[in-house]
Amino acid sequence: MAADGGGALPPGATIGILGGGQLGRMTALAAARLGYRCHVFCDEADAPAAQVAAATVAAYDDAAALAEFARSVDVVTFEFENMPAAALRAVAAHRPVRPSIRALEIAQDRVAEKRFFAAQGIASAPWRPVPDYPALAPALRALGGACVLKTVRMGYDGKGQARIEPGSDLAAAWARVGRVPSILEGFVEFEREISVIAARGLDGSVACYDPVENRHRDGILDVTRAPAAISDALADGAREIALRAVQALDIVGLICVEMFVARDGALLANEMAPRPHNSGHWTIDACATSQFEQLVRAICGLPLGDTARFADAEMTNLIGDEVDSWPRLVAEPGARLHLYGKSETRPGRKMGHVTRLKPIRG
Ligand code: AMP
Repeated sequence: MAADGGGALPPGATIGILGGGQLGRMTALAAARLGYRCHVFCDEADAPAAQVAAATVAAYDDAAALAEFARSVDVVTFEFENMPAAALRAVAAHRPVRPSIRALEIAQDRVAEKRFFAAQGIASAPWRPVPDYPALAPALRALGGACVLKTVRMGYDGKGQARIEPGSDLAAAWARVGRVPSILEGFVEFEREISVIAARGLDGSVACYDPVENRHRDGILDVTRAPAAISDALADGAREIALRAVQALDIVGLICVEMFVARDGALLANEMAPRPHNSGHWTIDACATSQFEQLVRAICGLPLGDTARFADAEMTNLIGDEVDSWPRLVAEPGARLHLYGKSETRPGRKMGHVTRLKPIRG
């Protein structure tokens, strides 16, 4: 059932999830709570999401497996930023794919993403495309000062990045990003990093979570604090940016926009992701509707849920062998431990997270 634009998918329907990571796992858990079934398509057996739902394990370019998967579900979403767009198109021939393939394609390409922000009147750090090595020196001269070189595609958790300044060894920086098409951004001396998750329903209604503050370690999100310690005016501005993005992209689902708060108070968009986001995991424990339930509501055509925060929250990622502290965390009163079921611990791998709540004084 449910061609795009149709009515709500009732509980009992099946949601297809492309990608088998923790975002898919937590989406499937939220879907189950509302009575939906989930079917995961991923390329690895025993993936975190495949442990809690039916699963097809096949390559993302296996057209026959993708078509069979699509025909066995009612609606499809994706949880993995670098999902090949071709896989999504193959699936979209059979079932609606939400939030939006176009939004994912823009988010997969840092140049397209920056152009999108500019077209929406959303400020970002100054940037220049660096499609090849000869373009790097002129781009650095044009921007002046310290910069960050990032690969256009396949970058995540700070991978594929090099900081450079006038006088730096450009050949070494180019080698560090893998000698692939890149973008040069002015280095932002930010006061803090924040992010906002906005949702849009099938009926076009929108909702937004409180802006949160993110601390990174070695390029990977370490701690998220909800709410961000920023003025109401800045919080409103950040919400407005996320809402503008979710509407301009015709999303049915979620988008997370990461932003810098510059020293002068300006908000500069850094990147966006049309999927649940690590900086929204706190919503599972501190909001009436988590980001995962919100995604399920949106893609199934249900009304969006209440995004209000009933507690302040601090979410800490458990990265690599930090997960070994689970016996202490599971015994800690009030700590809410989430483990992703990954059997192999690797440095830099997100193994779980813990959320601690602080009641809001009324
Ligand atoms: P990204 O992959 O773009 O999210 O970058 C990872 C992290 O690198 C960000 O969360 C920032 O901490 C830092 N970073 C990225 N771009 C810039 C920039 N233009 N100026 C300063 N720091 C940056």
